[in-house]
Amino acid sequence: MNEKVTREYPRFVVPGFVPFDPVELIKRTERIVCSGNQRKYTNFYATGVYGGIATGYTVGCCFRCIFCWVGLGREYPEKHGKFYSPEGAFHQLSWVGEKYATAKLRISGAEPTLGKEHLLGLLGLVEESMFKLFILETNGVYFGIDENYVKQVSKFKKVHVRVSLKAGTPEDFTRKTGAKPEAFEIPFNAIRNLIRYDVRFHVAAMSADPRIMSPTERVALLKKLHDVDSALVKGLEEEIVDPYETTLLRLGKAGCQLKWPLKQVYRSAAG
Ligand code: SF4
Repeated sequence: MNEKVTREYPRFVVPGFVPFDPVELIKRTERIVCSGNQRKYTNFYATGVYGGIATGYTVGCCFRCIFCWVGLGREYPEKHGKFYSPEGAFHQLSWVGEKYATAKLRISGAEPTLGKEHLLGLLGLVEESMFKLFILETNGVYFGIDENYVKQVSKFKKVHVRVSLKAGTPEDFTRKTGAKPEAFEIPFNAIRNLIRYDVRFHVAAMSADPRIMSPTERVALLKKLHDVDSALVKGLEEEIVDPYETTLLRLGKAGCQLKWPLKQVYRSAAG
């Protein structure tokens, strides 16, 4: 680990937290989870989402979403995972993909765009392989600040990007991600860059869950998306929060358990 992890490294969003710069957090986190073209992973496995997909589980993100489900490698990346080169990660993903007979691959558990050299190397290997699809799930920060990164990704035709938007207004964005409100626009820039370079993508948001996004905020989000491209609204993947242990921990740390009695709401949502 090259980065000296100080107490100031953002862990959880708690009441009264000081918003951070997610662009700076990319750099700080990369110093922990990347080394040359290597990136830290904790596991490789297959899961049923996307109709079955081989998954590399990484650590490290530049947001601190209060509804996030990933493991605590998000808060403590220095304590989790071991480094894999693009070849090493591809070897593991291939083994899982062949064992479970799936032609789809992805990186999960963190923000996959951290470690540009690693990701581009891995996508190059996927492009030359028998695998048909690589799902790239991103929060859009890196693709929003680095147009050339998107241009490089556009060369890989097996990639489908899923941009996950967190909020409909700058204030809600900061409350839910911990990032400063000025960064709210960055993921929308990512969408513009993906359109500009003709990368296959769609947009997702936790906008079907009124505990996380109010109807008013949802309308604001839909309007912003419409302003970028009206077709994005129709294709929006709208989610609700899942009560993973880590999700409940983060919501609790943010002081949200009283506002959202998850079990009760879930029963009524399910019922
Ligand atoms: S939900 Fe995604 S973007 Fe948000 S903190 Fe978790 S891994 Fe990062």
